[in-house]
Amino acid sequence: MQRIAVFPGSFDPITRGHESVIRRALPLFDEIVVAIGENSEKKSFFPLDRRLRWLDQIFGHEPGIRITTYAGLTIDFCRSENAGFILRGLRTSADFEFERGIGQMNKMMYPEIETVFFLCVPEYVSVSSSIVRDVLRHGGDVRQFVPEGIVF
Ligand code: ADP
Repeated sequence: MQRIAVFPGSFDPITRGHESVIRRALPLFDEIVVAIGENSEKKSFFPLDRRLRWLDQIFGHEPGIRITTYAGLTIDFCRSENAGFILRGLRTSADFEFERGIGQMNKMMYPEIETVFFLCVPEYVSVSSSIVRDVLRHGGDVRQFVPEGIVF
């Protein structure tokens, strides 16, 4: 039985925080599916194709990582991928409260799934896609917050 984990997110844009979680989780799983959730209610800042291209640029050559998109419930996507694990990152207690609700409801709807949490490394606790977007809107330099080679 393959150990497949889905890392769902908006990645709008991908940050060094996301990248760190994915790389640290790699030894635990046979495959990590990094999946951009298409949320019709949430308008993204960057178009889907651009977010996908960045993920592909960073992880496309890595064995054990697959990049894709999905619509609908994360647990339905996990089922379709035969994934037994959902990967998420925790920065703060606010993240924990938010993730606890989603993780427990996912577990009620799909008991076979386990959500695996990675504590953020200290240097990226304050790094978020939303702050990166704000800095970009005002013409700031975000290179230290996003993976090497990402250009805007
Ligand atoms: P979503 O819109 O689903 O919250 P994000 O792309 O913002 O998607 O985040 C995906 C996952 O990455 C979430 O579990 C989030 O908590 C985690 N994450 C975001 N930023 C960081 C960071 N700096 N360090 C560790 N994990 C992070």
